Amino acid sequence: MIKISKSDYVLGLKCPNALWFKKIRPDIEQEKDHRVLDNGTMVGELACDRFPGGVRITAKPWEDEAITQTQSAISANAPFIYEATFATDSGEYCAVDILRNNNDGTWNIIEVKSTTEPHEYHYLDISFQKYVLTRCGLKVRNCFIMTLNKEYVRHGDLDLQQLFTLYDANEEMQSMDIVQKEIVRLRAILNGPELGVALSKPKCETKFYKCGYCHHCWRNVPDFSVFKAFRSPLSDKIYAEHGYDLKNVPPELYVKQQNRGDIEAFLDNINIVNRDILRDFVNKLQWPLYFLDYETFQSPVPMFDNSRPEQQICFQFSLHVQHTPGDVLIHYGYLHHDADTDPRPGLLKALNDAIEDTGSVIVYNKTFECTCNRQMAIDFPEYAKKLSSINDRILDLMEPFKNRGLYNPCQNGSVSIKKTLPAFVPEMSYENLGIHNGTEASSQFMDFMTKKQTDAETEEMMLNLHEYCGQDTLAMVRLLDVIQTIIKE
Ligand code: SF4
Repeated sequence: MIKISKSDYVLGLKCPNALWFKKIRPDIEQEKDHRVLDNGTMVGELACDRFPGGVRITAKPWEDEAITQTQSAISANAPFIYEATFATDSGEYCAVDILRNNNDGTWNIIEVKSTTEPHEYHYLDISFQKYVLTRCGLKVRNCFIMTLNKEYVRHGDLDLQQLFTLYDANEEMQSMDIVQKEIVRLRAILNGPELGVALSKPKCETKFYKCGYCHHCWRNVPDFSVFKAFRSPLSDKIYAEHGYDLKNVPPELYVKQQNRGDIEAFLDNINIVNRDILRDFVNKLQWPLYFLDYETFQSPVPMFDNSRPEQQICFQFSLHVQHTPGDVLIHYGYLHHDADTDPRPGLLKALNDAIEDTGSVIVYNKTFECTCNRQMAIDFPEYAKKLSSINDRILDLMEPFKNRGLYNPCQNGSVSIKKTLPAFVPEMSYENLGIHNGTEASSQFMDFMTKKQTDAETEEMMLNLHEYCGQDTLAMVRLLDVIQTIIKE
């Protein structure tokens, strides 16, 4: 008998292939986001403190001992049970984050999530839990999803009542009949042969979720395919009719597409150059030029005063300054080194000292830097004037690339600086750096702040961060040089 947990159930409803791989092909590694797991542990522990005085089940959910401990806690009429574990005779099992005793023979399920709002699949998860508990004879009165409260601003000690928000899940849940039917369907799939993989960008990878089997299912799909060239659901339709290779897509399907140029550049292996767009950008420059980049990290639980759950906290900046055309570059930077304190005051002071009140501030993807500045202006009003002045002078170097003033097919449809830099400044790349992107920088710094690193790891990370963030601003300098050279040609 194949056992099905709540995460198996949700995985199977997202994509039956994923569940089949997990259960039948354990040799295919399922990539997991360790940051998500760490955040879940941190939030789960605090959530139990929000409902104190309960009994914790210490055995693992897949061990019979967990069920024995749960039955003892129920018999003892515990007010709350953390990780209460149940299993049906047919092999479905779950551990409930918090089971609340209503003292009238009924219980409430509270499912804790480290997000700031419930997502669709959270309701699938809690529906499965209610099904298992009901099949085990427990009377479930209400079900709740508890997330972090994105409006909560920390001042002093954590206020656990304010940190969390409870959402009544009853209206959004699947009926018990539907859950049963889905379990029957998933079991039939697990007992059958491997399914044909049906690739779909929105199913396999979204802003909030990336399936752990993408490395397997997408292994033959080139970096620039119908999934990059067309938006969903059109991409899915074209894939179903013509496959993923753009060479097989009839031109009439893309002649009216906004990114027709990208597709033609890919098919003909040519660059796109539009000097008017490049010139428009260069004409906006005001000297001196400040090339600025931030690194941030996010903690689900606010670590400092004046911060919210999941807020982006700036911990590093790199700034290259050029006072006049052809002048030497001067580099300034800030990298926080103390895991016990808020990085922002030190960073803001250094930034305030380094940026004067005139000149363009050049960033790459201004939404990010502008949002960071606006938030820091709220949290540290003494710097609001300077931050507002910086935002007023920001020029986004991504714009000329986004508007296709310059495009190389090796960018594969992306205008990320990780793609434009090697495309136009091939001697510079992110591949040989110790940190390759902002997500890695953020994750490693979070490990530092939560004291999960050894001293040697911290020393190495700090060196890598200096190199990585400095490269981001130097990359902007070099890309602007490329643009100016092309304009003069
Ligand atoms: S990568 Fe896509 S098709 Fe493959 S298992 Fe994941 S969701 Fe399913």
